[in-house]
Amino acid sequence: MAKWERTLGEELQQLKREGRYRPLTVWASGSSTRMELDGRSVLQMSSNNYLGLTDHPELIQAAIEATRQYGVGSGSVRTITGTLAIHEQLELELARFKGTEAALVFQSGFTTNQGVLASILGPDDVVISDELNHASIIDGIRLTKAHRKIYAHKDMGQLETALKESAAYGKRIVVTDGVFSMDGDIAPLPAIVELAERYDAFVYVDDAHASGVLGKNGKGTTDHFGLHGRVHIQVGTLSKAVGVVGGYVACDQILKDYLIHKARPFLFSTSQTPAVAASCLAAIRVLEQSGELIGKLWDNAAYFRSQVQALGFDTGASETPIVPVIVGNPAETMRFSDLLLQEGVFAQGIVYPTVAMDKGRVRFIVTARHTREELDYAVQALGKCRAALSQD
Ligand code: PMP
Repeated sequence: MAKWERTLGEELQQLKREGRYRPLTVWASGSSTRMELDGRSVLQMSSNNYLGLTDHPELIQAAIEATRQYGVGSGSVRTITGTLAIHEQLELELARFKGTEAALVFQSGFTTNQGVLASILGPDDVVISDELNHASIIDGIRLTKAHRKIYAHKDMGQLETALKESAAYGKRIVVTDGVFSMDGDIAPLPAIVELAERYDAFVYVDDAHASGVLGKNGKGTTDHFGLHGRVHIQVGTLSKAVGVVGGYVACDQILKDYLIHKARPFLFSTSQTPAVAASCLAAIRVLEQSGELIGKLWDNAAYFRSQVQALGFDTGASETPIVPVIVGNPAETMRFSDLLLQEGVFAQGIVYPTVAMDKGRVRFIVTARHTREELDYAVQALGKCRAALSQD
């Protein structure tokens, strides 16, 4: 080990001592409810493939056709030769789907948050952010010189105080996840919008886990709460329920134009491949007809959560297909997740610093594709692992 790498090695050893070292899990098959791991078929309860679109025939066909038509790469960033007709079609379709004037596509949800927040916030502005917002929001904010105020998770009293104290700033922006990725709870968007309107702020929602999940045909939290026109910036991902990869912002035309000139991930990183853009477009068209599929997703989530709770497990504030089972400290949590894998169930252990030290959890993600038998199997495995853990 080179001298400069020694401190890195020491940090990794520390992670191992704390039970937080996580080697990558390498799957031999594509995303599905059953996936192959080390020659075994494992029940998958950790994929964000909420609607099972990753292997949808229409998406695959669209990817093949676009590859034949345009080739495998787009050749450049969007502002040079990298805006192909398929990118424009995707943005038009996304804007129509979300009910906004415009939409702009980025390479990922992560870079969308980074690019948008860093572009619109200046040193005279203030950003008011839920403490449990996603890392990409936090990083986006860090890239700016804006003033920051963090409110306790979903605490509308603290949000109001922060807004009251913000009158002197230029732009005031309230940022929230639509669905929180570690707890599976939904942001109180109607209350946030009301407060923002009262204090002349604007609202930014990251719908990564709500895109394709919440609202009519998966149009997101704004649609779910009937707040069209009152949420100013809606970010979404194309990587989870949509089944492909990428991110977008649905917004007014003026913001789109501004971002095309200012958002650094948009300006300086090559655009989505034609296959990706085309399969995202096909996915949005599938979503338009997805009422039944989304109904199945929510039925499965409610069923799984109630069965887990019936066994006496704490599922925290979960109210979506993200169902955390709170275990405790990091080592116990990772042990629980390992035991589940021995039973043939993959559910990711999530520990400090992603969540509080004593709130380590095994996070289950239910999809529309899971059968009742699969969900029952996972519940039974949970009971078995708890018994095994108590004997450790
Ligand atoms: N926002 C939230 C709330 C997320 O959970 C994620 C995905 N982990 C992202 C943004 C980033 O999305 P993507 O995976 O498309 O980069």
